[in-house]
Amino acid sequence: MKELVIGTKNKSKLKEIKEIYVDLPFNCIDLGAFPNVSEVVEDGSSFAENAAKKASGYALQVGKWVLAEDSGLVVPILKGDPGIHSARYAGDHGGDAANNTKLLQELSKYPAENRDAYYICVACLADPQGKVMALTEGKCHGRIISDYLGQGGFGYDPLFLVLEYHQTFGELSSRVKHAISHRSKALAQLRPTLWQLISNS
Ligand code: IMP
Repeated sequence: MKELVIGTKNKSKLKEIKEIYVDLPFNCIDLGAFPNVSEVVEDGSSFAENAAKKASGYALQVGKWVLAEDSGLVVPILKGDPGIHSARYAGDHGGDAANNTKLLQELSKYPAENRDAYYICVACLADPQGKVMALTEGKCHGRIISDYLGQGGFGYDPLFLVLEYHQTFGELSSRVKHAISHRSKALAQLRPTLWQLISNS
């Protein structure tokens, strides 16, 4: 079976990517299988730049096809923050809880109707030589509420209300999240390239 390395050290992302691609006949390999791989520095100025850096950087190190993604939460009233800094919004060692606390603090003076936000994901596929073969983008729109609702998902999900469903990503099942999420939209667009890869192998 064709091998595909998932270029992320984020366990929640890894789980979601595997669930979204469950039907694809790939042997998905985690970065954990390559203990000597050094983490690719995400110092790009856009989601696309960081996604390409990760896919190419890991592909060059492991010599295999790599799928990587860069994602985050964009809040227009906060001038686009947390944006590309979503994982480290409250500092390098903050984690999800500290990031969520900071987000609520920054938004505390704004009424509900000004708290629109969207998740964005840019996914990238690189060949074993590190060449970028596809780069795709998906978005999912919602609103940041002021109470935590639900235990599902990860990151900002308990605060991210999907207006059409009247529930947060923390409350919605992973099946529903994968039907509408930024990640599933970006990954869906990579499917033709992935099927080509499978049929050529
Ligand atoms: P990255 O690893 O630099 O791409 O950062 C991704 C960060 O964006 C995560 O650590 C979360 O803070 C946030 N994020 C991205 N996608 C999601 C999601 O689906 N749910 C919740 N938070 C997300």
